[in-house]
Amino acid sequence: MEIRCDKIKAAYEDNIVFEELSVDFAVKAVNTIIGPSGSGKSTLLRLLAALEDPRSGTIFYNGKPHTELHPSEIRSQVGMIFQKPTIFEGTVYDNLVFGLKIRKKEFNREEIMRVIQQVDIPVKYLDKTGNELSIGEQQRICIVRSLLLDPEVILLDEPVSALDPQRANKVLKLIRTLKTDFGKTVIMVSHNMNDALTVSDQIFFIWEGKIVYKGSPEGIKESDNNIIRNFMAGEYE
Ligand code: ADP
Ligand code: MG
Repeated sequence: MEIRCDKIKAAYEDNIVFEELSVDFAVKAVNTIIGPSGSGKSTLLRLLAALEDPRSGTIFYNGKPHTELHPSEIRSQVGMIFQKPTIFEGTVYDNLVFGLKIRKKEFNREEIMRVIQQVDIPVKYLDKTGNELSIGEQQRICIVRSLLLDPEVILLDEPVSALDPQRANKVLKLIRTLKTDFGKTVIMVSHNMNDALTVSDQIFFIWEGKIVYKGSPEGIKESDNNIIRNFMAGEYE
């Protein structure tokens, strides 16, 4: 699904996060929005997920303005993963089929088994409960739960920032698979340049509500923008 923002504005009361932000994301690719803490990354994702409306401007989904779509229509095509995994009570299997049941989508255990094997999660995990899993495993379950609903776009807000590097790598690998094996459009938020360089096809650097870089991972390494260079040197949180 093609998503394009045209001059969108977001604010919390009178604190303006961005004004006239225009950005479009590559389809069936891993897009990463990177930037220091407080630059508006989570706010942007919430708008894309139709959890909130922009104050002004338009978000186009396959060319259709958000104002002509019901938020539930958008949410059925745009999945969202948060920094902290949200695992419900019950088994991993219960978690995975939760949304499918709510949406009255058909499924069977074999299908679920096939998908989890494809993403390198052992089948025996299906009968474990959430608290028997590490945070990294929980996050992978959240991603698969979203994937099973078959959205066109998957949004992830700092999905690995609570994880140690080894577990983070497994989750990043799965995120890459969303594009390569499942053909999803991925939009991830990160404040870690290494993670972004590892998984992204396209990187967006956001600074004080403005996109100051859009391009390849190779390109950002060569950037002569001072803000980006300072960020790469680890000057920002
Ligand atoms: P990031 O995800 O890049 O760290 P956010 O989108 O969370 O940035 O925040 C952008 C700005 O909006 C920050 O100045 C933050 O303090 C403010 N902000 C975020 N969420 C809220 C909220 N619920 N209420 C008020 N201000 C908020
Ligand atoms: Mg954030």
